[in-house]
Amino acid sequence: MKTRDRLRIAMQKSGRLTEPALDLLNRCGLSFRQSRDKLFLFGEGEPVDLLLVRDDDIPGLIAQGVCDLGIVGRNVLNEFKLSTTGLEAEPLNEWRPLGFGRCRLSIAVPQELDYEGPQHLEGRRIATSYPGLLGEWLRTHAVKAGVVTLAGSVEIAPKLGTADAICDLVQSGGTLVANQLRETEVLLESEAVLAGPLTLPVDERGDMLELLLKRLDGVIQVRESRLLLLQTSRATLEAVTRLLPGGPQPTLMPVAGQPDQLMLQALCAGEVSWRQLEEIKKAGAREMFVLPVEKMLA
Ligand code: ATP
Ligand code: MG
Repeated sequence: MKTRDRLRIAMQKSGRLTEPALDLLNRCGLSFRQSRDKLFLFGEGEPVDLLLVRDDDIPGLIAQGVCDLGIVGRNVLNEFKLSTTGLEAEPLNEWRPLGFGRCRLSIAVPQELDYEGPQHLEGRRIATSYPGLLGEWLRTHAVKAGVVTLAGSVEIAPKLGTADAICDLVQSGGTLVANQLRETEVLLESEAVLAGPLTLPVDERGDMLELLLKRLDGVIQVRESRLLLLQTSRATLEAVTRLLPGGPQPTLMPVAGQPDQLMLQALCAGEVSWRQLEEIKKAGAREMFVLPVEKMLA
């Protein structure tokens, strides 16, 4: 296959992952213009292009080398891995979890059924679009069940009488309730991930990928980070520090003209609540600020 000098990332053309994926890439400083046939988004600054496809095709496109990377649900990636084990396919790697498109792959049974554990499924039929992941779970739990593979509308299979249970993606659980189903087992916690081959290409694309990974780490980390600034006296420093929400060691700075006072700066992983601020204040802090973090480069 002809080698490319630009990095090519496959992503969902239109669906749940499209907007958050584009938003994330924009935050990494990438911008794009659309090709006339709407198949590509061409990178305007950096040498990174996007290929817009159905999410199910993404792992295959990476394995074939048509794309270097893909943004896809872990559910789709892992199902692909299972369907290709033993075949001579390029093994795929989950490079980064991306923090959106969260859902879980679960087994659900009709609400009126008493479910007592995996053995309940012995000899029953389970409808799913994920025969690989379901098959693996059934083997681990030593359950022999019939797997009915459906491309979509899995949740109506029990009502139609074509299956006794389902194994499908669940987010809020609303679809299950609407179909009188009850979630009984979680097989996989999923979210969108950056998928790619196990090894990076050793050319300009590899360099670009490394740069992209660094920016992604920065964006993902700051999305959850807050910078906490406060003033404290040296006497109360220890008590104040003990209450700081997790993160690396705080930085201390002197306050001009007040030798017993210190400015403290701490990067906190996650929200800082009013309650936490009030506790820290009670311990002796004042002049407190919680700031969102826009960019970070470690
Ligand atoms: P395509 O046309 O690209 O094949 P699709 O219908 O298969 O689209 P979407 O419904 O857009 O895909 O879902 C894409 C991904 O979003 C899923 O594979 C999953 O990782 C994630 N996701 C998050 N919540 C849900 C949910 N409630 N139902 C289905 N997928 C979800
Ligand atoms: Mg799909």
